[in-house]
Amino acid sequence: MKALHKRRTIAALLALAIPAFAATVQAWGDIGHRIVAELAWRQLDPSARAEVTRLLKADGSDSLPDIASWPDHLRDMPGKEDLGKATGPLHYVNFRDGKCHYVPPRDCADGRCVIGGLEKYVAILGDRHKSNAERAEALKFVVHFVGDVHQPLHAGNRDDKGGNEYQVQFDGKGTNLHRVWDSQMLYTRDLKWQAYADRLAAEGPVKLPRPIAPFDNPYAQWAEESCSIVATPGFYPDGHRIDDAYVATNLPIAETRLREAARRLADLLNKTLD
Ligand SMILES: [Zn+2]
Repeated sequence: MKALHKRRTIAALLALAIPAFAATVQAWGDIGHRIVAELAWRQLDPSARAEVTRLLKADGSDSLPDIASWPDHLRDMPGKEDLGKATGPLHYVNFRDGKCHYVPPRDCADGRCVIGGLEKYVAILGDRHKSNAERAEALKFVVHFVGDVHQPLHAGNRDDKGGNEYQVQFDGKGTNLHRVWDSQMLYTRDLKWQAYADRLAAEGPVKLPRPIAPFDNPYAQWAEESCSIVATPGFYPDGHRIDDAYVATNLPIAETRLREAARRLADLLNKTLD
């Protein structure tokens, strides 16, 4: 009886754990989003820090890294399924012309792409007439989407669901290119997210790409940069195989994107919450 009860408990725990795990592979894995949030937090000015802390507290949340993956888990949260569904298209953008040139009506109809998502939630975050609850929710989306738009495969130019449908061999196992870029390449450092953030911070301030005209939409530029990385010859590995040479070339690119995302997130929060 007791053993049976125990087995049921374990089964119930597994049932809870599996969807959560499935959700973490949708974007930069949890590790990437946490690193971006942590590095951004370290670069906030005092007034933005105070406002972030106040909004997180109103939300019952502890820290920026803790909420950084929240939008990826909405579909598994009771009462949040509809919000998860409605905001699903806001995690990425698909470029349709093969040239990585963002054309809003074509690539982001009705604002339903990561660029539109950033525009929407940055506006809510900066609006002091909105409630704390609305602004805290907006903060969680902004932190997450700045991370997503810097993951190259969230702004790609191929018809393969951001590499999710592109199977590869990595470390003797089958996976797909999206997962490799989300987290599996990062795991090769064998570091927990705090130590990984320390390692990247030790590289010093990241040199950001120069703003490209027109200067009115930085989010589009960030997406175009991601798309250009995906369009680079060799990004899709020869023979569908991720070897050491691929990691040696591309892990530094992934890490630069994390550092750029963090710097830009900090700048955005400093400006929006000043
Ligand atoms: Zn996401």
